[in-house]
Amino acid sequence: MPHDNPLIALLVVGLGLAFIFGTIANRLKTSLLVGYLVAGIVVGPFTPGFAADQALALQLAEVGVILLMFGVGLHFSVKDLMAVRAIAVPGAILQMAASILLGEGLGWLMGLSAGGGLVLGCALSIASTVVLMRGLQERRLVDSDAGRIAVGWLVIQDLVTVLILVLLPIIGPLLSHTGAAHLGLRAILLMVGETLAKVAAFVLVMLLIGRRLIPALLHFIAHTGSRELFRLSVLAVALGVAFFAAELFGVSFALGAFVAGMVLSESQLSLRAAEETLPLRDAFAVLFFISVGMLFDPRAVMHEPLKLLGVLLVVLIGTPGIAFLLLRLFRRSWAVSLTIAFGLAQIGEFSFILAGLGLGLGLIDNHVRDLILGASILSIIINPLLFHLLKRYRPWIEQRDGVVPAVVAAEAEVRAPLPRTELTQHAVLIGYGRVGRRVADGLRADGWPLLVIEAGEGTARSLEDSDVEVMTGNAADPAVLAAANIAGAKLVVVAIPDIFEAGQIVDQARTANPHVRIIARAHFDAEVPHLTRLGANLVVMGEEEIARSMLAQTEALTVRV
Ligand code: AMP
Repeated sequence: MPHDNPLIALLVVGLGLAFIFGTIANRLKTSLLVGYLVAGIVVGPFTPGFAADQALALQLAEVGVILLMFGVGLHFSVKDLMAVRAIAVPGAILQMAASILLGEGLGWLMGLSAGGGLVLGCALSIASTVVLMRGLQERRLVDSDAGRIAVGWLVIQDLVTVLILVLLPIIGPLLSHTGAAHLGLRAILLMVGETLAKVAAFVLVMLLIGRRLIPALLHFIAHTGSRELFRLSVLAVALGVAFFAAELFGVSFALGAFVAGMVLSESQLSLRAAEETLPLRDAFAVLFFISVGMLFDPRAVMHEPLKLLGVLLVVLIGTPGIAFLLLRLFRRSWAVSLTIAFGLAQIGEFSFILAGLGLGLGLIDNHVRDLILGASILSIIINPLLFHLLKRYRPWIEQRDGVVPAVVAAEAEVRAPLPRTELTQHAVLIGYGRVGRRVADGLRADGWPLLVIEAGEGTARSLEDSDVEVMTGNAADPAVLAAANIAGAKLVVVAIPDIFEAGQIVDQARTANPHVRIIARAHFDAEVPHLTRLGANLVVMGEEEIARSMLAQTEALTVRV
């Protein structure tokens, strides 16, 4: 079967194994990405057993990159990009230049030609968008100062990569051992000019035409009332713009999708559009990591550990060290500088593309490509550990920031472990949305000591100045519930719409405290006994209450008539 249907085989086996290894990774309390990478290595050609189609996997991974960057663009406006340009543009360019030099040095030590060193250096200078964005999303840092600078930095890296991809075939041979094709400075400048002009033309077309056309199209589709069509239109726009950007303007898929998202972010529909792409985006992001794992030949790592170590040191210490110094020069706090530097301490998709190109041009051999791949996998595995260190040494970092007067304290975006509440005999309200907000007002008026758990960062922040204690996080996470002192609480109100998570929360709350009163929210008949069984004392079915109230109003109105 696998040979007849390579795509189906890849999806079934790849996603199935990613699920299994992801679950194991989760149990071992490490990043899910590690599980996906291992799944990739298992379905790859270098381990015994089933081998999935590598070329297919790479294409699917590219779809993942497109959807991811589209999502990033949706959360990013031109204004955001402009706000960080003063630091992102010089920062990213200087960091890449320095990392390329480091790579050249390492290449020289390894006996590569100058051209080979250039390929190695370029590959080591660019972080993986997927890994960095996943890291920021997991830690809810996308909307923070560090997050915005990191995204700006990524966009610049991406632009420079487009340029490198165009220039490498010209400059590379000049620097290789053979010194083949020879082009004058004029020709090189012409090529650079042409590439920049194409990128500028693409951005201009998007700003002048796309900015009007795309939101208008989505508005039109939204008015048809068909969710299915809307979802489809969002996908078509994301993939379509990315594809045409690459075909017509020579821009990378990632950059094309990013600009498409950014153009959309100025319309009100953007949030809905973002939500529509979420599930697909996650599935394809998993495929991206599987495809990375598939490229990896574990034997390559074992043969020359010293070389691998050298490459890894450039990625883990060289690049982040340079980025950190630059950010500090730009007067960013320790917390922000370290967050961004650690975010950049990994390499991924762009490095593979560059390594592939270098291989095709004969500048590097298979062996160097394997080193780049090995360093990529190891750096992706090590990356979450760096963030863990950051969390662990937060007090020390904050102390450092305290002595830098120019730095605003609010910049410290590194997350601390949740502090445990001091409240006892209190009410815990979960979800501060349309329902929770109203419940909170009532509870406060009744004099309850109140603690709110809310997953949405913005919503939670809106409560910060009030007298209510607020915790940002998913209440289904046992650590969050424990920090809310459920064991000492008197009342738990679960005001979230998702039955799956609500069930988890009710179950855990009941286990932690057999006496606490639990009131939960439901939307369907079957959810009421489900939540009751898990331990809720009272389940309020929203639709029933609405109907009851409507009926009462109808009666009141008809009596009056
Ligand atoms: P609404 O449906 O308008 O009442 O909004 C529900 C609110 O609950 C939103 O603000 C969500 O961010 C929040 N929410 C949903 N799930 C969770 C969860 N598992 N933990 C904490 N807050 C949540």
